[in-house]
Amino acid sequence: MIKSRAIVLHRYAYSDSSWIVKALTEESGIVSFIVKGGKRKESPFKGALDPLALSEVVFRENPNAELQYIKEATLIDWRKNMREDLLALAKAQVMAEMVLRYAPQGIPLQAEFALLEQAMGELERFCGKPESSSVFARWLLKTCDAWGYTLDLSTCSRCSKALDAPPADFIPETGTIVCKECVGENAPRIRQETSEGIWNLLKGNEIAHPQYLENALLTYLRQHIGFHKEIKSLSFLNGTRKIYGC
Ligand SMILES: [Zn+2]
Repeated sequence: MIKSRAIVLHRYAYSDSSWIVKALTEESGIVSFIVKGGKRKESPFKGALDPLALSEVVFRENPNAELQYIKEATLIDWRKNMREDLLALAKAQVMAEMVLRYAPQGIPLQAEFALLEQAMGELERFCGKPESSSVFARWLLKTCDAWGYTLDLSTCSRCSKALDAPPADFIPETGTIVCKECVGENAPRIRQETSEGIWNLLKGNEIAHPQYLENALLTYLRQHIGFHKEIKSLSFLNGTRKIYGC
């Protein structure tokens, strides 16, 4: 029997009364559970298997089966604040979907669990506070690292000097930055908001317009993993950004 903390990544109906739940478990990576009777009102799992919930699950792992039977699920944190903040919710959904679609299946994913648990915990704790502005960008940067696509945003890729001011350019194909001296007369391709976002991320500061840095990192990561895997919740995130004007 395996007892593990788990983050619910995705849930869909399997029949009139059952769910299929895909969760990132701390011990066994991504596991697909069949939850018979999960849709019934008197289900013992209650909110523990709601998407994005952090729970403790108990299950017997059958390596020959695609779907595992869940024995117990106990809610640890439903992330109430995060759910009430549409922008935080949209970012959490993108993170969950990216892990589900991009992370390898069938192997332990301790780094991914730790990063996702931290980011969602911060979206919950920092809700409505300036600290929340850098959570998604920091998760993207660390996730790139965990998946072997490490970016160096602190050193100029041409002169190898450590940045002492916001970078003048970011090249999404290589994930590298260029300092002001090296860019010279060439017009940089990035917006000022992206440049300031990189600088503030490095400094651990609040980021005024995080969407530009988030999109730059998303472009870099998706360029390496492949755009063929569509991240459906990105359209919800972009729609929410429009509503909030950010
Ligand atoms: Zn330089």
